[in-house]
Amino acid sequence: MAIKILDPQVVSRIAAGEVVERPASVVKELVENSLDASASQISVETGGGGVSLIRVSDNGMGIPATELELAFQRYATSKISSSDDLASISSLGFRGEALPSIAAVAQVEIVTCPAGEPAGNFLSIKEGVKINQGSRGHPQGTTVTVRNLLRNLPARLKFLKSTATENSHIASVVSQYALAFPEVKFTLSIDGKVILRTPGSGRLIDSIIEVYGLETARNMLEVNSEDGGWGNGSALSSLKVTGMVSSPAVSRSSRGYLSFFINRRWINSRLLSWAVEEAYHGLLMTGKHPLAVINLSLPAGEVDVNVHPAKSEVKFQNERLIFSSLQKAVRRALIETAPVPRIEDVAIAYGRPAAHQPLKALPVIASLPGISPPVTQPTPSLSLPALRLLGQLASTYIVAEGPQGLYLIDQHAAHERVLFEQILRQSRQQEVEVQGLLEPATFEVTPEEDETLKLYYVNLGEFGFNIEPFGSRSYLVRAVPLLLHRKDWAGAFRELLDSLSLETESDWRERLATVLACHSAVRAGKGLTDQEMRELLRQLEQATNSHTCPHGRATMIRLSSEQLEKEFGRR
Ligand code: ADP
Ligand code: MG
Repeated sequence: MAIKILDPQVVSRIAAGEVVERPASVVKELVENSLDASASQISVETGGGGVSLIRVSDNGMGIPATELELAFQRYATSKISSSDDLASISSLGFRGEALPSIAAVAQVEIVTCPAGEPAGNFLSIKEGVKINQGSRGHPQGTTVTVRNLLRNLPARLKFLKSTATENSHIASVVSQYALAFPEVKFTLSIDGKVILRTPGSGRLIDSIIEVYGLETARNMLEVNSEDGGWGNGSALSSLKVTGMVSSPAVSRSSRGYLSFFINRRWINSRLLSWAVEEAYHGLLMTGKHPLAVINLSLPAGEVDVNVHPAKSEVKFQNERLIFSSLQKAVRRALIETAPVPRIEDVAIAYGRPAAHQPLKALPVIASLPGISPPVTQPTPSLSLPALRLLGQLASTYIVAEGPQGLYLIDQHAAHERVLFEQILRQSRQQEVEVQGLLEPATFEVTPEEDETLKLYYVNLGEFGFNIEPFGSRSYLVRAVPLLLHRKDWAGAFRELLDSLSLETESDWRERLATVLACHSAVRAGKGLTDQEMRELLRQLEQATNSHTCPHGRATMIRLSSEQLEKEFGRR
């Protein structure tokens, strides 16, 4: 075929394909326009997965009649005017591409009325061609109605998933913006049913309640870097991290609950997800992920949002600083507020047993992660009060009394916590106790393990392993940590290599101490003497983070005196 310039209709459809990936992309662009127009109320209505209908109404500033047609021309925008403005974009839109793109692949009608004008105006466009225009009544604001989306792009239409899937993408977009703009009242109705309504109170927690439910909202902790005071003098001292994250008691098995906004623009960022997950290191079990709603506010010049037509990816000037600031802010929120889970909360979540029933709450203890006290009244300290030993239950739990009620302590998890902190402390002070092997043992490794071990074998000395290379992919082990003496040190060592090879930013020393602690800690099912249990309690009381084991499991749960009184009908 000879080279020729494509006709404008083809060009506009190609370009539209970049902006309109699926119905939810249209919802996103229209909601962004409403937000840019300073709307305080935005309602979104969809039908047929967004293909038959998308309608977004707002009470924003509207579009003057004289500019209405212009708004549908490619690269027509009121938000920037020169390329200098690209360096400091403060609106959500700026490319002037959304309305023309949507109009190229659907039937669009816009009705709008700017403040102070007596009547509104409408314009309808079908697949890029103007159909009709005139005046029509409309309260101040704008309503955009999109029908028959992508009908003229069968290749794209074919790739849409089920109506239910498209609906869930739409719900996700609206939810994200409802979280980013708590001062705006959002309503989303799908096929005639209202599925989300936020009050527009300006408080993030109110949006979280509507999006994630009350139970989850009760477990959210506030993140606010402003009172952290690390920014002074740094290159990005005006960086602010605000929002809420879930307490370690709640988690999800996917990363789909991490929402990030840069200057309130919803974005996808692996860097930011990673930073948040790193902050939970040691607090959540593997495979579990937190919930987070985080806004980073930073000077517009520090971030480039002009990376892709969908504007959902950004580039940071200073990635490392962003990463560490976010991680620190979240970590601090977690450390300051993580409470001891209480049995009451388990009972609430699973239906409180009637007063005459035996304490049914106990069997559900195993499913404890997911529960913790309301965020409004957290137990603010992580330290543990002095506990009085009562006995051992099922050779697995230590039963103790404390000032706040009855405590059940998981002996393995508690011991892991104690050893973990002890190992890290001793390695720092070069005081790890070492057991020399009577005969040095050779240890064979895979090529992959070899790469890891080459990097770390010298440092492993700090933890009590005396190791040296011994030919190809083989090492000589002369001594092991005393903690592992008479234990399966080779098994522990293998696991340790696995954890060292993980591609995470987390501290390798902590990962190593986690493995060592797990392998050395007393097992569940082992009978303990009173003296051993008292010693463990005493050490746990002194641990800095006594409420979770290094993997993030709870070390203990508490049945409060009030709950006991209630259960026995004393109050
Ligand atoms: P961009 O948002 O990048 O400027 P769009 O194609 O999305 O481009 O919109 C074009 C212009 O139309 C905007 O710059 C704005 O002036 C106007 N506009 C679009 N939607 C609205 C709305 N809901 N309220 C007021 N003005 C709007
Ligand atoms: Mg726009």
